[in-house]
Amino acid sequence: MQFRNFRMVNYVVYGRGSFDQLDEILAPNRKGDAPMIFLLDHFFKGKALAGRIPLQGRDKLIFADVTYEPKTTQVDQLASALKEEFGTVSGIIGIGGGSTMDLAKAVALMMTNEGSSADYQGWDLVKVPGVYKVGIPTISGTGAEVSRTCVLTGPTRKLGMNSDFTPFDQIVLDPALTTNAPVNQRFYTGMDCYIHCIESLQGTYLNEFSKSYGEKALELCQEVFLHKDKWDDHSDDQLMMASYAGGMSIAYSQVGVAHAVSYGLAFLLGTKHGIGNCIVFNHLEAFYPEGVREFHEMVKKNNIDIPTGVCKNLTDAQFDTMINVSLGMKPLWENALGKDWEKIMTRERLRALYERL
Ligand code: NAD
Ligand code: ZN
Repeated sequence: MQFRNFRMVNYVVYGRGSFDQLDEILAPNRKGDAPMIFLLDHFFKGKALAGRIPLQGRDKLIFADVTYEPKTTQVDQLASALKEEFGTVSGIIGIGGGSTMDLAKAVALMMTNEGSSADYQGWDLVKVPGVYKVGIPTISGTGAEVSRTCVLTGPTRKLGMNSDFTPFDQIVLDPALTTNAPVNQRFYTGMDCYIHCIESLQGTYLNEFSKSYGEKALELCQEVFLHKDKWDDHSDDQLMMASYAGGMSIAYSQVGVAHAVSYGLAFLLGTKHGIGNCIVFNHLEAFYPEGVREFHEMVKKNNIDIPTGVCKNLTDAQFDTMINVSLGMKPLWENALGKDWEKIMTRERLRALYERL
C-alpha cells in the first residue's frame, strides 16, 4: 500500500477583515520591483473590494472573466501577456470563487513552466514550481482554496493540473468577502461542499483522516442550509470553514457519482460545477439515499430552483460523449462503487441516468 504524501497550503489566515492584512502578508514575498498580479473576479468591477486591493509600484489588477469556467487558452493568454509585459512577476493573487482561484493557480504555474497549460492536465506533470500564489475565496464551497488541483477545460478534456506545485502558498479566509454572494449561487457552490462530504463519507476510500474533516464539514453545511431560519454573518463564517474542511476531506479520499456524472454535463453542455452537481445529485437516491433526501429538504427550505430536463434534446452521439467523459473518471467511480464499479455502472445504466436529468 502506497499512502499519499500530499502537500498542503503553507500559510492560512482566517477571520473577518483578515483581507486587510494582505499588504503586510505580501511584503516579504515581493522580489525587487517585480509586481504582484491581482486577479479579481469580474463581479467586483466598480465594487468596494476593488478599491481595497493593496497595489504597490508596478502591481497590476486584472478582472478575471469567469463567465465560463477557466480554459487552458485563457490561462495561456494571461500568462504570456504577463511574461511579455513584466518578464517576471513576484506573485499571482486570485480573489473570487473556484474559477478565479483555479485561474490564479494555473497562471502562477504557467509563469515558469514551458508550453501550454493543456500539456499539464493530468497528474504530476508539472515540472517546476510556479511563482508565489495566494488564494482568497469570495464564495464558499469548492475547496479550491486547499486542493492540489486547478480544473481547466482544454482542447480535449476537462481536467486539472494536479501536482504538488499546485496548492497555494497562502490563503486568506475572510468570510466578510462572501456577504454579497447571490442566494442561488451561494447555494450551488455551498452544495458542492455538501456533495464533497457525502461522496467522501459514503466512498470506499474513506479513512479516519477524511472522515474527521468530512463529518465536520457536513455538520456545518446542515447547520447553515437546514437548521437555521435566516442567513447571517455567522453562516458565512461557518460555510467558509465547511469548504476548507470539505476540501481537506477529499484530499485524502475522492469524490463520487455526482462529480463523475456532472463532468460529462460540463464537457458537453458547459454546465457549471456547482449547479451541475446539484442537477445530478437531485437524482442519485439509488446511490446516496440519505444525502439526497436531505438535499431535497435543503432545496425546499432555501427555495432554490434545480433545473431539470437538461438532456432532453440530445443525440445518441452526445450521450456517448458524456458517457465517455464520465466513465473516464475512474478513481471517482472506484471510490463510489468499489473495485467492481464497471459491472455496476454500465454504459446503459449511465445513459438512463443522463436521460433522467
Ligand atoms: P465561480 O468561481 O465560477 O463563481 C460563480 C459566480 O459567482 C460568478 O458569476 C462570480 O462572479 C460570482 N461571485 C463570486 N463571488 C461572489 C460574491 N462575493 N458576490 C457576488 N458574486 C460572486 O463559482 P464556484 O462555484 O466558486 O467555482 C466553480 C469552479 O471551481 C469551477 O471552475 C470548478 O471546476 C472549480 N472547482 C475547483 C476545485 C479545485 O479543487 N480546484 C474544486 C471544485 C470546483
Ligand atoms: Zn466539487
